[in-house]
Amino acid sequence: METKEIVLRQRDFFNGNTTKDPRFRIEQLRKLKALLKANEPMLYTAIFDDFGKSEFETYLAEISQIYHEIDLFIKKIPAWSKPKRVLGSLASFPSKSYIMPEPLGTTLVIGAWNYPYNLSLIPAISSLAAGNTVVLKPSELSGRTSRAMATLINEAFPMDYFHVVEGGIEETSELLENRFDKIFFTGSTPVGKIVYQKAAKNLTPVTLELGGKSPTFVLSGCDISMAARRIVWAKFMNAGQTCVAPDYVLVETSIEAPFLEAMKKEILTYHGTGDTLRENYVQMINERNFDRVAALIEPEKVYHGGQVDRATRLISPTVMNGVTFEDRIMEDEIFGPVLPVISFSDLDDAIQRVKDGSKPLACYVYSRSKNRTGKILKELSFGGGAVNDSLMHMANSNLPFGGVGFSGTGSYHGKAGFREFTHYKSIMEKNMNLEPPLKYAPYTPAKQKLL
Ligand code: NAD
Repeated sequence: METKEIVLRQRDFFNGNTTKDPRFRIEQLRKLKALLKANEPMLYTAIFDDFGKSEFETYLAEISQIYHEIDLFIKKIPAWSKPKRVLGSLASFPSKSYIMPEPLGTTLVIGAWNYPYNLSLIPAISSLAAGNTVVLKPSELSGRTSRAMATLINEAFPMDYFHVVEGGIEETSELLENRFDKIFFTGSTPVGKIVYQKAAKNLTPVTLELGGKSPTFVLSGCDISMAARRIVWAKFMNAGQTCVAPDYVLVETSIEAPFLEAMKKEILTYHGTGDTLRENYVQMINERNFDRVAALIEPEKVYHGGQVDRATRLISPTVMNGVTFEDRIMEDEIFGPVLPVISFSDLDDAIQRVKDGSKPLACYVYSRSKNRTGKILKELSFGGGAVNDSLMHMANSNLPFGGVGFSGTGSYHGKAGFREFTHYKSIMEKNMNLEPPLKYAPYTPAKQKLL
């Protein structure tokens, strides 16, 4: 069926007001959770076939978070959908004022491949929870997970309400020719710009969850071995194909040597290297990305790792040192298991170099100094981040997740996701008793004196 027809059917269904009933939304989310639970093995097989991701990591980083969001929405939909009273104003006394949350309508969710279930389903769930209909377009690069979602969802839900459209650039471009009431896009900054332009034709509000080069500061006096462990975990999980992975490390020169040593130790403990790579270490998603990341490795700057195997699309966890901001690896987001380490001796300079680039999606600071940590958090603009940890801010649904500037616009997770798909309609309700003469002409000198 043509995408135009799907969108029209969803618009008709939305206009029938069924989705405005919180009980309907809760019922649908329960149904979705049961569907996913009953088919977990199929979901794990699909993601393993796409890029070798293990069941454990998929549960941890994707499925458990999806369940958590569904449970949260089921609990909160009634309260979050209710009108909220706010204080009235003297100008409209006597009256009552309130804000009525209302769904936006027919929404389009475009997902990325790196956490294919999480990045497609959590925005879709947020939209359904807020009372919208959803057309979901997962990434074609993770074709088996895209197919798994399409098979399950399209069999279980009517097309008029929730439907998966599979495909790549051609199908996404066709979808974007339609008028939606909201578009939620996760992916690269260049494609984000295309989506934004297409949405502008219909003044469709857009959420853009994009990427960027996320810095990690490692300052003298921090717990070096714990910092190394957490950075290694965050960077090499999913083989660095994580939008909020530490893209590069800025380490103070005085602790560079022990920090590098500690990183190597952690890599060997958790991942192995070269021929001894652990079974669960993830592949690059495709040859194009394998070639792109492999080409960023400069052999003379490799401190550890650097082994690549095109046949299996594996790149071993790689740390480069002696890197400068002028090196090629510092031009674009790496999105792979290569970690450049840049040493610095002046924090102001390091902060300035980060400011010279685009606003990143994340920033991490490892330090025991409240002052220096506070300085970085205050002076740099970025989507979100963590102190003495990496990635884990994403796991708290009380923290809105999103970028700023070139790393995105808008945010989601928990209530932020509900808000992103909701219009807050302001209403002032008056009774018919009192009417101040002040607002009516003629504006006599006596009336003017009252202002
Ligand atoms: P991508 O931009 O290539 O693709 C994302 C989606 O856009 C896919 O569904 C794809 O089919 C579609 N698409 C691609 N080209 C298009 C075009 N010309 N016109 C219309 N649609 C098009 O991104 P990707 O390779 O899937 O993901 C990697 C990027 O996504 C990285 O930059 C990463 O940082 C970012 N990302 C961000 C987040 C976040 O939450 N902020 C999460 C994951 C990934």
